[in-house]
Amino acid sequence: MAKSNRGKPLWKMQSRGRGTCPICNATRIKLLYDIVNNEGENLKVCKRCQKQKI
Ligand SMILES: [Zn+2]
Repeated sequence: MAKSNRGKPLWKMQSRGRGTCPICNATRIKLLYDIVNNEGENLKVCKRCQKQKI
């Protein structure tokens, strides 16, 4: 798999891969990880919340 979380591909994403983490509410952080919450929704979270349970 390509390194979709690093380098150039990030710049094609909305806001260049950065945003506000829905879990820790850190702003302008890179949202690199897809997780699924209790309701089956896909969320983009930062690295700090990657392993966190919601
Ligand atoms: Zn976070």
